[in-house]
This record gives sequence, structure tokens and C-alpha cells, in this order.
Amino acid sequence: MPINLDDPKRFRPLVGQAHQVAMNMLRPISRKYDRAEHAYPKELDMLAAMIDGLAESGASEGAGAAGVKRSADDEDGSVRNGTNLASVMSIAEMSWGDVALLLSMPRQGLGNSAIASVANDEQHERFDGLWASMAITEPGTGSDSASIRTTAVFDPDTDCYAINGEKIFVTSGERSDAVVVWATLDKELGRAAIKSFVVPQGTPGMTVERLERKLGIRASDTATIRFEDCRVPAANLLGSPEIDVKQGFAGAMATFDNTRPLVASMAVGCARAALDLTRELLSQAGVEVDYDRPAMTQPAAAAKFLQMEADWEAAYLLMLQAAWMADNRRPNSLEASMAKAKAGRVGSDITLSCVELAGTLGYSEAELLEKWARDSKILDIFEGTQQIQQLIVARRVLGLSSAELK
Ligand SMILES: Cc1cc2nc3c(=O)[nH]c(=O)nc-3n(C[C@H](O)[C@H](O)[C@H](O)COP(=O)(O)OP(=O)(O)OC[C@H]3O[C@@H](n4cnc5c(N)ncnc54)[C@H](O)[C@@H]3O)c2cc1C
Repeated sequence: MPINLDDPKRFRPLVGQAHQVAMNMLRPISRKYDRAEHAYPKELDMLAAMIDGLAESGASEGAGAAGVKRSADDEDGSVRNGTNLASVMSIAEMSWGDVALLLSMPRQGLGNSAIASVANDEQHERFDGLWASMAITEPGTGSDSASIRTTAVFDPDTDCYAINGEKIFVTSGERSDAVVVWATLDKELGRAAIKSFVVPQGTPGMTVERLERKLGIRASDTATIRFEDCRVPAANLLGSPEIDVKQGFAGAMATFDNTRPLVASMAVGCARAALDLTRELLSQAGVEVDYDRPAMTQPAAAAKFLQMEADWEAAYLLMLQAAWMADNRRPNSLEASMAKAKAGRVGSDITLSCVELAGTLGYSEAELLEKWARDSKILDIFEGTQQIQQLIVARRVLGLSSAELK
């Protein structure tokens, strides 16, 4: 089946709307919340209410991270452009406005994607409208998420799990309504025993200990959270409580197939912002980028710009492909990692090169270029670093298991 890589026409109003919001609501407060690290961007409440309203009216498909469910209604065999594609396109636009504010958007957390990916129908309904962050990383465990040490022990008397452990670098960990926590039911059984739990804020035993000060995405809060005999109902375990050694990590990993294209779209949006402003600044300096002439016949700055745009285009297409495959219920782990790897890398390269091309204007706070260069770096780190994405791609291409290629 061929893939049509034109923007789907029916998403144009959504993308246009997201662009307007990014330009008129996010950009004007971008610098303010970059400086006021840890202050809550209260302007986002109104925006989140607008997105909720659009979602309820059905006017907005996939306005944010919450919209990555693979729904059953796409099983008629026809090719479709669905929620995943709509999500990456609108998130790229919002990230063009400000990726840190996008990450701070109520009810659009990465935990929402986890719920959308693995929750059962009852849980979908119960957790609808919740703002959920995602806690995987621990002091001793980042990339190797299969070796987490946080435990969840079932107590049949209370039908609860008791969670114990520490999670670090939880995006929106303080502001979200609930945290989706990865914990192991049995350390001896390895990755198959890792399950995720929805833990509402305020649950006794869960404490937000501190917030990080960071290089970029300063508008987004990043929390350390401690769990001490924190009890959650058994019904808050997402997916199946069975430990299926054969299926292994597949359930937990399914979340990443949905979230990696989203992070790719953030990098695509942030890089696009830097390219758009740089083209404007180059033009003011008398350098016009000419798409009809070979790069080698143009000024060095224009040639560099054309090369960056080609890289950007490749990341954009990989992002669309990964999301399109999810919409059409095709296994997309390889493509999701390829999109994340390419977009993460070129996102950082492009934003930093734009600082370089714009000279003093690029490095100063007069423009947002320096901020975008700082913000984009995280998009090449979280949800799996550049190196980890390359490892996943290599394993898939070579047909090797995680034990065979580490
Ligand atoms: C601002 C911010 C927000 C975050 N938000 C969240 C969040 O919401 N939820 C959450 O759970 N986590 C979050 N994280 C954590 C993030 O996902 C981890 O930092 C990331 O997975 C890397 O883990 P690590 O920092 O422990 O690095 P490590 O895993 O220790 O890696 C260090 C370096 O070694 C490389 N490396 C590791 N293993 C290999 C290998 N096998 N082959 C080659 N190279 C390798 C890595 O690529 C990296 O460059 C966040 C981090 C930051 C900075």
C-alpha cells in the first residue's frame, strides 16, 4: 500500500489552529517562563480548557499527547490518517511555539500516552481527563529501563499494591494529577515482571522531594519522587497483572512506539522555529535562500540553510511515517526509533547551527534562538537517548535480540 506523504487535507484546520495558538499564546510567554523556572504557567489553564472543549466537541482529533490510542474502529482494513498522525502534526506546531510550555500542558503528559497505549476500557474511562506524568527513571537506572528497582508488592487482604522506590527526572511530576510509575512485581523475573501503575497525587506514601534546575525546557517541572509503602488499588495496574515471561517487555515497550514519534515531533517543531527565524534574519542581512539554484552557487550561509532544511525534511517524513504506521496498526518500533533518532539529532544540530549562523543575535537573549538550542537537547535524551535509538534500529535491522547486541 503506498504512503501519500502530502499533509492530509482534513488535518489542515487542526494544524492551522495549533499554529495560531503557538504564535499567539505560547510565544508571548516563552521567555517569561524560561526565566521563571518552577513558576506554573497559569496561562496554560485556559489553553488546556480550550483543547478539552475541542476534544469534547470532536472538532480536534489528537490535539495532544493524550490522543495516541490505537482505536478498534480502524480495523476495517482501509488505510487511514488517524489520531497519531494528527497528534504529531499538531504537537510539532505547538513545539514551534514553545516545547517547554507544550510539555507543561495540563492533561497532555507522557503518562497519558501510557494510559492510552496499555489501559483497558474500564481504566480508559476512569482515568479520562486525568493529567498523568510518567516515572521510569531511577537514580541507578536510565537507559536500561529493564533494571529498575522500584517494587510493587500485591497485598491480597486489601487488594492493593504497595510501591517502594525512588523516581527521578519526572516531567510534570509535581503538577500532574497522577504519576504512571514503572515498578517490578518480582525482580527475579526480570523485564517481564515490570508493570505500570497509576498513582494519584496525594496518595499517602508518595512524596515529591525536589525539582531540578535545568539547561533547557525550564518552564517544565522535573521532579524527584519517593514512594514509601505507597498503596494503590490493584485496579490501577495498567494492562494485565500476569507475568508473561514469553511476552517479556513488550507491553511496557508498546508505550514507546507511541511516544517516540511524539518526541520526534517536538524536535521537528522546535527546529522549524529556529529555521523560520534564521531565514528571516538571513534575509535582513541580505542573504536570500534560493531553492531554484544549487547550494554550491549560493552564499555559504544559504548553502548551510538548505542542508539543514534537507535534514529537517528527512526527520519530518520519518515522523509522519512512524505515526501513520501506528494509525494503521502496523508494528512501528523500528520506524518510531528511526524518527526519534533522526529528529532528536537534527533538532539539536539545527538549533545550534542557527545560533551560529545568526552570530551575536543568535547567542543573545534578544531572540529565542539560544533558548531553542537549549530546549532541543532534551529531545535527543528522554524517551530513549540517541545511542539507545540507534541500538534499537541496529537490533531490528540485523535481527538481533537485546541479549545479542547491547
Ligand atoms: C529534563 C528531563 C526530563 C525527563 N523526563 C523524564 C520523565 O518524564 N520520565 C522518566 O522516566 N524519565 C525522564 N527523564 C530521564 C531520561 O529518560 C533519562 O535521562 C534517559 O533515559 C537517559 O538515562 P540516564 O540519564 O540514566 O543516562 P544513562 O542511561 O546512564 O546513559 C548515559 C549515556 O550513555 C549512553 N548509553 C547508555 N547505554 C548505552 C548503550 N548500551 N550503548 C551506547 N550508549 C549507551 C546514553 O546514550 C547516554 O549518552 C528525563 C530527563 C531529563 C534530563
